[in-house]
Amino acid sequence: MLPLPDSQFRHQLLGWFAANQRDLPWRKTSNPYCIWVSEVMLQQTQVATVIPYYLRFLDRFPSVERLAAADLNTVLKLWEGLGYYSRARNMHRAAAMILSDHNAQIPDDYEIFRGLPGVGDYIAAAVQSIAFGRAVATVDGNVKRVLSRLFLMEQPVNQSGTRNGFPEAAGKLLDQDRPGDFNQAMMELGALICKPSTPACHICPVQSFCQAFQGNRVDQFPKRLTRKAVPVYHIAVGVVLKKDQLLITLRKPEGLLGGLWEFPGGKTQPGESNRQACIREIREETGLEIEVEQSLTIIRHAYTHFKIMMEVFICRYVAGRVRLNGPVAHRWIRFGQIPLYPFPKANHKAFPLLETYLQTRK
Ligand code: SF4
Repeated sequence: MLPLPDSQFRHQLLGWFAANQRDLPWRKTSNPYCIWVSEVMLQQTQVATVIPYYLRFLDRFPSVERLAAADLNTVLKLWEGLGYYSRARNMHRAAAMILSDHNAQIPDDYEIFRGLPGVGDYIAAAVQSIAFGRAVATVDGNVKRVLSRLFLMEQPVNQSGTRNGFPEAAGKLLDQDRPGDFNQAMMELGALICKPSTPACHICPVQSFCQAFQGNRVDQFPKRLTRKAVPVYHIAVGVVLKKDQLLITLRKPEGLLGGLWEFPGGKTQPGESNRQACIREIREETGLEIEVEQSLTIIRHAYTHFKIMMEVFICRYVAGRVRLNGPVAHRWIRFGQIPLYPFPKANHKAFPLLETYLQTRK
């Protein structure tokens, strides 16, 4: 059983938060829609990265109605580079449901809000506590680390599933009168003071309650499961040129990078060279016959559970009409039209080299 700190813990944490919290744009509003947008963007993403995206997004979609009315391509274009694109697709779907089923109001009810696409335990707790003052504790990576040190919790912080003690511990600590501030204070403490490898215990406002600090065991917490080695996939893609146009294809709306545009291609099979894979993949995906002219570059990119080494080839259209198998749409575009379409980050890494190549080719 966890010891239940007295109100002094909450008092000290909230006092520290009031004096030390970062000046962040989503802390200047009580609008549930804006808070929802910020919390969705902040999942798996650093605050500094999120700020410009948040400002641009709300500038373009200042209300749930405007978001619901937008086409997905526009939403993904504004999300481009932020990663985890299912967040944007789900928020877009949820906005349409809020418009049709909830009179364009973010549901002021944990269970109803939790039932919307993309709204998990964390987002529901964050929005409901910060925007509506509901007493639900948030549990993100920062909170888990703080809890694990405060209470010497043996549960690994990177173990999936919520039945591992952290929600219970967070719920017991929660300030019932100021749940939104308290949740933000716990997360802020983890972000600014109780950092993963260099916790600033000497200035920590809850040092006197921290069992790891008191027992001189801070370096032993949090516990983590050792991760398996991340696989590396070899990918071959082709920039297929036909006169002054190049071919891009649209990924199906669901799954990894769903709804984004890309150069056609795919995984290199065992025993196959990247060049052979490029020709085969383009034939399979688009029905086109192409010739590989040269290799442009090799891009390295890391996703959450795997890495890719993607070789980008310059290809020449030879024959055939586009018949898609996998992608759901295609366009022949000029290089200058690329900014109109959302692309994965790995493709973006190739654009400067491609631009130089196309200029020297003229
Ligand atoms: Fe974290 Fe150190 Fe504060 Fe404990 S005393 S909560 S380990 S920063």
